[in-house]
Amino acid sequence: MFARITVLFALSALFVGSTLAISERYSIAQSPPAVSAPTEQTPSPKLQPLPPALSAPPAPQSAVPAPAVTAPPEQIPPDVTAPPAQVPIVNAPLETAPAPVVTAPSPETPAPAVAAPTPMPPEKPTLSEKEKGVAAKFLFASQKLPTLGKAMAIGYYPRGCLQGGVELPVDGPNWEVMRLSRNRNWGHPELVNFLKKFAPLAAKATGWHGILIGDMAQPRGGPLPFGHLSHQIGLDVDIWFMPKPDRILTKEEREKISATNLVAADRKEVDPKIWTPADAAFIRTAAEQPEVERVLVNAAIKKRLCEMEGKNNHSWMDKVRPWYGHDDHIHVRLKCPADSPNCRKQPPVPGGDGCAAKDLAFWFSDKVLHPRPSPQPEKPRPGLTMADLPPACKDVLSAPARTNNLAADDH
Ligand SMILES: [Zn+2]
Repeated sequence: MFARITVLFALSALFVGSTLAISERYSIAQSPPAVSAPTEQTPSPKLQPLPPALSAPPAPQSAVPAPAVTAPPEQIPPDVTAPPAQVPIVNAPLETAPAPVVTAPSPETPAPAVAAPTPMPPEKPTLSEKEKGVAAKFLFASQKLPTLGKAMAIGYYPRGCLQGGVELPVDGPNWEVMRLSRNRNWGHPELVNFLKKFAPLAAKATGWHGILIGDMAQPRGGPLPFGHLSHQIGLDVDIWFMPKPDRILTKEEREKISATNLVAADRKEVDPKIWTPADAAFIRTAAEQPEVERVLVNAAIKKRLCEMEGKNNHSWMDKVRPWYGHDDHIHVRLKCPADSPNCRKQPPVPGGDGCAAKDLAFWFSDKVLHPRPSPQPEKPRPGLTMADLPPACKDVLSAPARTNNLAADDH
């Protein structure tokens, strides 16, 4: 009995701690919450303030987002003032869509459970008492290996899981995976194959040695204890604005180096001292790939692309959409793969390239650039439980592990 209480206490302490650190919108996916958003708690001892970047371009201490700009979650809780509700034309990507989307969402953030167009198994598997009460993120984070079985992305980007995930090797000819301690270099085989294809294309387009890859998904996908609301079904990946150095980084360097923030301190423009044409080529190359559904970048970066490309009517520009954060990495989201009938599609972007003044205005409004601090401390948001996820995710959680490392190409 006593042991049980202790366990429950530990879990709830963990839960409260982690809910303070959520949300890639405000913190940088790959850099420690403590650096990018002072009010957030660092969830893990591995995430510490960083030393100056080792071999990086002027990796900006100064470019670390000012607290007023990278509002901590309580200042713009997604379920209260999420941009979708305010600016329906702005494609709110699901990167940070509150998983339990209760408020009327834009066309891009439909309430997942209600409007899911994809067929789901009719019955929910029985949940144990423990699973009912525990946030699903802890259950998924504790799974260190993928399931056996055919690869399948299940559910929605911010509310689902991954069967038969495959691991992206931490080093490749044109890539290195960062933050290895997180064990998030897993994805649907299409994501892994995309990265293997994209890395050399990006290297060629930019003149870089290759790319640095941040978070993908956990071995079985699912909600993450910190850092993102999406990245749950093995089709999302963050890729840094920083060339891969011409050498293999140590494990420690991969924990400590930060990506390069391209946005100026006023958040209205890219920083002209840091931004280069290679950054544009990098984004363009990602958006040009047919399997890519969205590329999310900071609004100042989207604005710069509009200045460069707005008149050219490139269809790839439609996929590049502004979102909070994303000043030091792009977030690439793939379309639902053909082998995944329970993967729920993200509705298409509203027409156009998103460069019209009305499309961008919201992102440069005072409330986004200078959000007012909330008078009260944030109430921790309850995480998703297993009951919030597609029923098949229960099976994913309990399925036998695959211990051999299957290459994505074997699928
Ligand atoms: Zn991301």
